[in-house]
Amino acid sequence: MRTKSVVGNWKLNGSLAANEALLKALLREIPRQGTVACAVCVPAPYLAQARELLQGSGIGWGAQDVSRFEKGAYTGDVSGAMVAEFGARYAIVGHSERRVIFGDTDEMVVAKYTAARRAKLTPIFCVGETLEEREAGRTEAVLARQIDAVLASGAAQLQGGMLAYEPVWAIGTGKTATSAQAEQAHAFLRARIAVKDKAVAAALPILYGGSVKAANARELFAMPNVDGGLVGGASLVAEEFVAIWRAAGPQ
Ligand code: PEP
Repeated sequence: MRTKSVVGNWKLNGSLAANEALLKALLREIPRQGTVACAVCVPAPYLAQARELLQGSGIGWGAQDVSRFEKGAYTGDVSGAMVAEFGARYAIVGHSERRVIFGDTDEMVVAKYTAARRAKLTPIFCVGETLEEREAGRTEAVLARQIDAVLASGAAQLQGGMLAYEPVWAIGTGKTATSAQAEQAHAFLRARIAVKDKAVAAALPILYGGSVKAANARELFAMPNVDGGLVGGASLVAEEFVAIWRAAGPQ
C-alpha cells in the first residue's frame, strides 16, 4: 500500500521573511501525523531555516537538486551529504528546468539520483516529455529512455526513491495533464519498472507535477497510479498548497 505525498518545489523563489510567513501558515494547517506526507523543497540557502521552523512538525523539507559529486573542485555545487546535514529528507533530481536550462543529461541525472541515495536522501526523480515530443507521439519513448537510464543499474536503485511524472508542457503553463493522461503515463512507468521488479514497481510512489492547483488536484490524485503531487507555483501560496495537500487525503 503506497502512501500519498504532496511536495512543494519553491524553485528560485523566497526570502527569509517570505519563507517564514509561508512556513508558519503551513504549520498552522498541516498536522504532525497526517495520512498524506507533506514537504517543501527549498533553495539550498534556506535549508537551515526550513530545519529551524519545521523540525518536529508534519512537514518535511528537501533540496531541488544535488551534485553528482561528493566533494572537490566543483564550484557552485551542493552535495547530498551537505543537504542531509540540514535534516533534509528529499532531493529533486532531473527536473526539466535542470535538464533544459542547465543541460542535465540522463547520465548526469542518474548520477545525481545515486548521489542523493548515497546521502540517505529520498530522491524525487523527474521525468516527462515536451509538447513537441507528445505531439509527435513520442511520450512513451521519452519516458522509457529517462526511466531506463536509472533501471540500467537495477530496479533496486528505485527502492526508497520517488518518481515524478512532469510533462514539460504542463510545468508553470497553467495547462494540466488530464487525469487520464497522467494515469496513462504513470501506469506506463510502473509497468516498465515491473518488467524488472514487480515489488519495487508496486511500492514506488509516482507523483504528478505540472500546474497542479486546488481545483484539479482531487481528480488527479484519485487516479490509481497517481500517488500525490510535485507542486511548483501553487506551493508558494499557503492556502492553495494546503488545499492541494488536503485533496490527497482520504475522500
Ligand atoms: C514543478 O516545477 O515541479 C512544477 C510542477 O511546477 P508548476 O506546478 O508551477 O507547474
